[in-house]
Amino acid sequence: MEGRCGRCWVSKNLVNHEVEANPRADPTIRKEKVILCKHCVDSAPTDALLFWEIYMRFGSTRELLQHYNSETEEDALRKLCIERDLNEREVIRRARGQQNADALNNAVKKANAFLTYASPYGYDYVNGILQVKQEEARVVSLIFRRYLEGRGIAKICQELNRDGYRTKTGRAWASQTIANILSNPVYCGLSRLNGGIKRGKHDPLIEIDTFNRVQNEMQRRIRRPDQRKTETPHLRLEDYVD
Ligand SMILES: [Zn+2]
Repeated sequence: MEGRCGRCWVSKNLVNHEVEANPRADPTIRKEKVILCKHCVDSAPTDALLFWEIYMRFGSTRELLQHYNSETEEDALRKLCIERDLNEREVIRRARGQQNADALNNAVKKANAFLTYASPYGYDYVNGILQVKQEEARVVSLIFRRYLEGRGIAKICQELNRDGYRTKTGRAWASQTIANILSNPVYCGLSRLNGGIKRGKHDPLIEIDTFNRVQNEMQRRIRRPDQRKTETPHLRLEDYVD
């Protein structure tokens, strides 16, 4: 097929993809056809609102973050909802519904990266609260343990891929994903909120001491001294009261 993917602009492996029309557009139009590459079809959300308002507008999570000058997907999504006059709660509800549907399918996860921001690897959102997902939680513990045993992030990544583990979206592990896990305070029971940190309602997977040791170790392993932070934040649970 001639042309380019309507989302990521590649010109290979194109297919005709029929989707429901945007529910906010003309209600008399039921279905629309778009040309997408195979990769974009595979990771497309089935929810039409998410598909048109988020997925088709950005070729990657990075683009989304850059567009809104945001550090987190949560913040970018909030700005997107304001800009597009969308109800943020409704969008998040749909994104979580999408995740649950994918979990039920038990096939390769279709949820795209933007739609999974709400549930970090190791957890699933159930009724608005992060619930431990045992098989993923074991991998999170393994990652922290291996790192403190002295393994490098690239090495841990290789091991996980070799042993057949996959990320939430069903893809192979990348070093950045592992680095993100090692530095995400969600794993010791905290959650990030509007640039700050607060105590979460979820069960921790990692002791806070372990988490702090990993943060120190990550700083220590940075080769260029000018890239090290002068002070590694030392988290204490008692600093975060509900
Ligand atoms: Zn594409």
